[in-house]
Amino acid sequence: MFRVLNKKKIVEHCRQLVLPARNLLNSCGTKLDSASRINNCVTKHAYLNNASGGFRAECELQRKLFHVTATRQALPPVFIIILRPLSKVAAILFGRTFRKWWRALPPDRKQDLILRLKKNKTALLASGALVSTGVVWYYYSHLEEDPITGRSKFIAINKEQILQLAQIELVMQRELHKDHFLPPAHPAYKRVVKVANQLLRSNREIPQLRETNWIVTVVNEPSVTNAFVLPNGHIFVFTGILSLCTNDDQLCVILAHEISHVLLSHMAEQFSSLHLMDLLVLVPLALIWAVLPEAAAVIAHWLSGYFTKVLFQLPFSRALEAEADEIGLQLTAKACYDVREASVFWAKMSSLDSEFEWLSTHPNSETRQFVLESLMPTAIQLREKCKVRHTYGRILNTYFYWHKWFSVKFLLYKTKLLSTNVVLRNLAVDSNKWHR
Ligand SMILES: [Zn+2]
Repeated sequence: MFRVLNKKKIVEHCRQLVLPARNLLNSCGTKLDSASRINNCVTKHAYLNNASGGFRAECELQRKLFHVTATRQALPPVFIIILRPLSKVAAILFGRTFRKWWRALPPDRKQDLILRLKKNKTALLASGALVSTGVVWYYYSHLEEDPITGRSKFIAINKEQILQLAQIELVMQRELHKDHFLPPAHPAYKRVVKVANQLLRSNREIPQLRETNWIVTVVNEPSVTNAFVLPNGHIFVFTGILSLCTNDDQLCVILAHEISHVLLSHMAEQFSSLHLMDLLVLVPLALIWAVLPEAAAVIAHWLSGYFTKVLFQLPFSRALEAEADEIGLQLTAKACYDVREASVFWAKMSSLDSEFEWLSTHPNSETRQFVLESLMPTAIQLREKCKVRHTYGRILNTYFYWHKWFSVKFLLYKTKLLSTNVVLRNLAVDSNKWHR
């Protein structure tokens, strides 16, 4: 157990394990630059975890110890993104070069090589079995059990790397929509913040929700019917989808679905599965280009990519969407919004579906409606329970709301927030309150 009072042990443990300490420090927003900072931050982290009745710090250390590549040794995500197409190009070049080399060989040399291969058949099969075992071991050693669903999932990327990817995506999205951000005083912005606050506050028992600094951005693009949440807590909502949400219940369904993707680490899971898939197709790809003539190889290459996408990637993506729908419905129920509006929303959206489900990354709206309706009895029960809790919660919130205005610390924080030139409003104002 990670004992709070044994401060020396915690610090010593973290010093021995540079990576976990670094991750803990990162999660505290501190740089690894002095022993006293390690000491303070780790202790603070442990106190916070114990105060909330959990031992997350210990779990974090154990998880890092188990299999995740050390941060210093892990490749930067940008490098991995570039490496993906490069490895495929390398496989194609290898296959083509091999075919040309084989064609240029004299017949007697070819015969000789074939005989040698037959002679060393056992050694070749053993090498193949060894590589296959390595791939299977790599897969099983990177399986994690999801704390919310209990499902085992393959995650080959650590938290720090996924946050780096999210940061890259955030910079791109900000640059792309920088002229269309709505100010915090805009009614649409206030609507999103109000619903997001209730959703996050009502589900505060989920550690990841409490620990993330949620930031809302509303983009004024009526033609875009989309919303997404990045793993670093940035919630993007486009006015196109806002106008489709005829009430706050429907808006909550959308936000809860997107937040569920973050809670369930779907970005990491998808990135990892693509990474594994790329590794697995390298050998067949090289074989296609080594055996087939140029034109046939191009067709076979395209077909293999198409079938991999249709048979594995898209069904996997749709499964993750369905999972986010299910968990999102539970979050909505706990936030006391009307869960029945989920099926109303997807029934409305079905008229906008334009492609076949098996060719889409998402289940079609009709499927989503039926699946959500099958989950409705449980969700309604959950909402009834939360309704009672919510009434008490409202009384407490009213108390905290008036109480906080008499707190000097809060006023200072508020002043600091207002003095920064932000287009976004930080939900941490409220989430800080939940910690107390
Ligand atoms: Zn989704």
